[in-house]
This record gives sequence, structure tokens and C-alpha cells, in this order.
Amino acid sequence: MTTEKTVGFIGLGRMGAPMAGNLARAGYKLVLFDRQSDITNRLAEQCGGRAATTPAEVGRSASVVITMLPDSTAVRQVVLGDGREWGIADAAPVGTIFVDMSSSAPADTRGLAGELQQRSLSLIDAPVSGGVAKAVSGTLTIITGGEPALIESISPLLLAMGSSCIHAGPIGAAHAMKALNNYVSAAGLAAASEALRIGSTFGIDPAVMVDIFNASTGRNNSTENKFHQFILPQTFASGFSLGLMAKDLDLARDLADTSGEFAPLLKRCAELWRQAAEALGPDADHTEFIRFTRN
Ligand code: NAD
Repeated sequence: MTTEKTVGFIGLGRMGAPMAGNLARAGYKLVLFDRQSDITNRLAEQCGGRAATTPAEVGRSASVVITMLPDSTAVRQVVLGDGREWGIADAAPVGTIFVDMSSSAPADTRGLAGELQQRSLSLIDAPVSGGVAKAVSGTLTIITGGEPALIESISPLLLAMGSSCIHAGPIGAAHAMKALNNYVSAAGLAAASEALRIGSTFGIDPAVMVDIFNASTGRNNSTENKFHQFILPQTFASGFSLGLMAKDLDLARDLADTSGEFAPLLKRCAELWRQAAEALGPDADHTEFIRFTRN
């Protein structure tokens, strides 16, 4: 299959590389950029895309530009430039659609959308859930925020990377939802980690405990998809870093602060994950959180 659209893809890490690969397989022409040029060149060779050497070069070539970067700071830097280097928006023709699939800060996303609108450029937030495994299989859940007609216009592109798109609301709503989802996910992993340590000190086999959770009401995504797979065998190879999870919890806590809602569990959880990232390093896998809960 081929398509007329050239798609820019910025940020070719653990998630971005397989997502870009799925777009190439669906027939999209790609122009790729990562600040690590070796990664850009390797992926361009693998999927037949073009390697750009600057973000502005992507802006000149693509009608849709996807960002899959660590955070809002990186997204703003590549989209608007940083004073030293031009950004994508400086070179993008009127009508270019930006799709931020990173887990970014909702307030920053709203601010960026306003700045792009002044240049007649559009922004959609479209963060994902499902991790590296679903990025590879093209079965991510994609949460969208922004103008429904605009999202509809790029839905075939999104569905080349995911199995479903769920609309959360206006611009920024998807990034807010993603941060809140990861809070609930991190709280589930933290609760199961504590319970496992207490139960095993009491003499119960940890593997049996996970089986019992999974057959009972204590099950959650971590007990089903992380404990037997990465935590008990101590491979800690989920592909999602502790630093990025701690960032998502900071975003959820900021959202709670802005809303004025009482959120004591979220605040404690954000603090614990931040301490874990400081103790184990931001590049540790997030499933290593269980090591932090040791006495
Ligand atoms: P990663 O660290 O593996 O990849 C990020 C990539 O961005 C790297 O290749 C890095 O070189 C590049 N980069 C960073 N700053 C840049 C800049 N200024 N200009 C150009 N390139 C830059 O991260 P990841 O795990 O792929 O996560 C990306 C985003 O997706 C994050 O927001 C994360 O929270 C989110 N996310 C990750 C997962 C997961 O399981 N890994 C799941 C869902 C969402």
C-alpha cells in the first residue's frame, strides 16, 4: 500500500522506532529525526524513510508531524526551536498537523496549541498506552485530544500504530488522561509490590501470590502483565523507564494541584516514585520499583 502523505516522525526511542516502523509498513513515506543521528540513520535504512539532520528539515517535508519524545520540554524544543536551532514550525507550511504522542504536560500542550494556531498550524495530543510490546505489534491504545474533525482526518494514520483510538476531549485532555492513567497503573504496581513483600515474609511463595491475585479481586495490569514476566524473574525488561513513570506521576500531581482536588494517595505515590527514580536512576526499568520497597 502507498499513500501520498509524507509523515514526519521525531523521537525514535523504545516507542517511536517501532511506531514509525508500523507506519512504513502501512505505506506512509517517512522523514525521520532523533537527536541521536545513529538511531535516525539506522531506522531510515531499515524502513526506507529519509533521515533528516534537523527538526526544520522535517517541517519542510511533511504534512503531518508526529512527536514521540520524553516530555513537553523536548516537544517544545523541536517544534518551536530553542534559540540556537530552528524548530519544525519555522519551516512547516500552513495547515501542517502536529500530533504529540509523547506523555506530555497537559497545560504545556494547551499553550503550544495556542502558539501554533497563531501560525495557522494545528496540534492534536495523542498519547498511547500499551508499552513497547504493543508499539511493536501496532496494537496501542491511542487517547486523543483536540478538534474531532481534525483527528478524524488522520485516523487511518493513527490506526496504523494502534488498535483503538479513544477521544478524551479538547486539546490537552488526552495528556491529562494519560498522566491519570499512569498514576492508577503505578499505584497498582506499588500496592502489589508491598503486598508481595509482606506475604513472602509471612512465608507465602511470591509466584503463588501473583496467581492468587490474578484469580481474585486484587488483580491489576501489573499483576497480570508485569510480575511473572519481568519482576519475579528479575529481568526488569518492560522497556518503560522509572524516570518516565516518575515524570507521569509528577504531571498527575500537578493536575491535582491545579484542580484543587484532595489527592493524598496520588501525592504520596508521586513522592515514592520520584524517590525510587533518584535511588535507582532514571534509566532503570519502572518494574525495578519493587527493589526500592525493600527495607
Ligand atoms: P526513549 O527514551 O526510549 O526515547 C526517546 C527518544 O527521544 C530518544 O531516542 C532520544 O534520543 C529522543 N530525544 C530526546 N530529546 C530529543 C530532542 N530534543 N530532539 C530529538 N530527539 C530527542 O523514551 P520512550 O520509552 O520511547 O518514551 C517516549 C514517550 O512515550 C515518553 O513521553 C513516555 O513517557 C511515553 N511512553 C512510553 C512507554 C514505554 O513503554 N516506553 C509507553 C507509553 C508512553
